[in-house]
Amino acid sequence: MSDHLSAQPDTLLPLETALERLLAWAVSSPIRECETLSLADADGRVLAEPLIAELDLPPWANSAMDGYALCQAEVRGEPLRVSQRIFAGQAPGPLQPGSCARIFTGAPLPAGADSVEMQENVELLADGRVRFSQPIRLGQHVRAQGQETRRGETVLLAGTRLGPVELGLAASLGVAQLSVIRRPRVAVLSTGDELIEPGLPLGPGQIYNSNRRLLCSWLQRLGCAVLDAGILPDDLALTRAKLGELSEVDLILSTGGVSVGEADFLGQALREEGQLELWKLAIKPGKPLTCGQFRGVPVIGLPGNPASTLVTFALLARPYLLKRLGVSELTPLHFPVPAGFAWSKPGKRREYLRARLEQGRAVLYSNQSSAVLRSAAWAQGLVEVREGTTLAEGDLVNFISLSELLG
Ligand code: AMP
Ligand code: MG
Repeated sequence: MSDHLSAQPDTLLPLETALERLLAWAVSSPIRECETLSLADADGRVLAEPLIAELDLPPWANSAMDGYALCQAEVRGEPLRVSQRIFAGQAPGPLQPGSCARIFTGAPLPAGADSVEMQENVELLADGRVRFSQPIRLGQHVRAQGQETRRGETVLLAGTRLGPVELGLAASLGVAQLSVIRRPRVAVLSTGDELIEPGLPLGPGQIYNSNRRLLCSWLQRLGCAVLDAGILPDDLALTRAKLGELSEVDLILSTGGVSVGEADFLGQALREEGQLELWKLAIKPGKPLTCGQFRGVPVIGLPGNPASTLVTFALLARPYLLKRLGVSELTPLHFPVPAGFAWSKPGKRREYLRARLEQGRAVLYSNQSSAVLRSAAWAQGLVEVREGTTLAEGDLVNFISLSELLG
């Protein structure tokens, strides 16, 4: 991280600026080490090298229908005899001139055939010949060799995140293993004297630690090796000691302890033995964000309120991490939808409201407090209401898909 990342303490930092800075920081510390994995193990990982087709797909012309393969120029109203039957998985001989071949879906077209007529459109004569009553278009119902992919084509770019479709595509090309970026090691730290873990009885003044589970599960979905570093009490010496134990990770992600006016132990530790940026983001929820490094290990400190944790992780920490892995597509699916609500008070910060689509309109969860994680469980997306704007019902708002952000 460099000095230009400092913001004036009282200035709100636009989201775009914060993201730009984080991405620039990510680019300066890329994770490049690769490993070769079987397709079965590569789900959720990032492709390290482009996937180049080593064969045509399909590898040979084949039938898209159950029917009859023929040479279109030979169909002139006269019935044709059936000279062979071709099932999927067979290798046919050439089509005898003046005949057709019984063929089934996925079976190779015999040499000399160029079109297929579906079985529903033919008449079977008593002598075993077949009459084609409808005009036949050259090439109909044929999946041409290489129609999906040509040998040598780049099918997936390096930096693609692998999911079921990408892995299925690799399999279709006969590829059994892929080179992927190693998992980033991310330590998750929850700060706060008030936190205890679920399963234990709740004492006076305590709350259950929700952010730990939220972030650990989310990071696992993003292909990270998660080091769950547990709960850190609000104490400088313990903070220092804990951060010091995490020297092997690629990122320390903490929550809590970044609110204004609070004893800021994470910040103090970074200031003393690393580098510190304290940002006040122009977004709501999620104003305070700490980032920097501790003895060279990157640290991002998210705000502690669970909905703030969710929004800042989604909009900032997630793209930062993916960028370090070389992921090319960082922008989540988003689209304009009419607001199913009015917004009368223009805000200083951009709102990320937890919302659902109902009858094509974005409707809001009733409680948008940053402490309410239930809002995000109900929501399908985040609706963006820009700073300084008011909205009437029906005005278009940007809707960001939450399911995509979470994967
Ligand atoms: P802080 O930034 O530490 O002042 O935390 C802001 C709010 O988030 C406080 O109400 C905390 O109790 C709450 N909070 C902090 N960490 C967590 C956590 N891990 N799980 C649930 N709530 C938290
Ligand atoms: Mg706290």
